[in-house]
Amino acid sequence: MNKNEEILNILEKEYGDIGCALNFKTPFELLVATILSAQTTDITVNKATDILFKKYKTPYDFAKIDEETLEPYIKSCGFYKNKAKNIINASKKIISDFGGKVPSTLEELTALPGVGRKTANVVLSNAFNIDAIAVDTHVFRVSNRLGLANSDDVYETEKQLMKNIPKKKWSRAHHWLIWHGRKICSARNPKCSICQLSHLCKYYIKNNKN
Ligand code: SF4
Repeated sequence: MNKNEEILNILEKEYGDIGCALNFKTPFELLVATILSAQTTDITVNKATDILFKKYKTPYDFAKIDEETLEPYIKSCGFYKNKAKNIINASKKIISDFGGKVPSTLEELTALPGVGRKTANVVLSNAFNIDAIAVDTHVFRVSNRLGLANSDDVYETEKQLMKNIPKKKWSRAHHWLIWHGRKICSARNPKCSICQLSHLCKYYIKNNKN
C-alpha cells in the first residue's frame, strides 16, 4: 500500500460516509447555498437558506425578484450584494439556456454567473452523484499539508488530487478532507498531536525532523 492509499484509508476510517454540511432539497437549492457559502460558514448559510427557501425555491422564483428583495435574506453570509446579483443572474440563465434545470456538466455549470470550478464540483458531486473533487480552502490546505497534492495553485491541486485519489473516492475524499480541516487540521493551529495522520503527513514530518 502506498502512502496516499494509507492516508485515504485512515481518513475513510475517521470520517466514513460523512457528507455535505449544506442543507438542500434540490440541485438548484444546493447551487444557491454553495454560491452563498463563499467566505462564510455552512452554519451561517443554513440559517439563511432555512428562511430563504421557504419563500423562494426555484430559478423561476429567483428570476422574478430584484437584488434589493433578496439581499436582506442573505446579508449574514457576507458579500451579499454580489451574491444576490449572481444568484438572480444564474437563475435567469438556467431558465434561458437550460430549460429551468440546473445543468450537470462542469462546462455548463461554470458558464453560470458566480459559479467557479469549486461550486460546480460541489453541485456535481452532491446533487448529481458525479465523481468530482471540489477544492475549497480546507481541501487545499489539508491535501497540500498531507502531501496528497503539492502545489500553491488551486486548479493544479485539483488536478493532482484527481491523479492521486481513485476516481470512485473523489467525492467522499473531498468530504473527508473538509472535515479533517474543520476538526483537526485547522489553518492556524493544526492539532498535530492528536492527528491520526501525523506519521504520514509531509507538513508534520518536515516540521518535526529533530
Ligand atoms: Fe494537519 Fe498536523 Fe494532521 Fe498534518 S499532522 S494533517 S498538519 S493536523
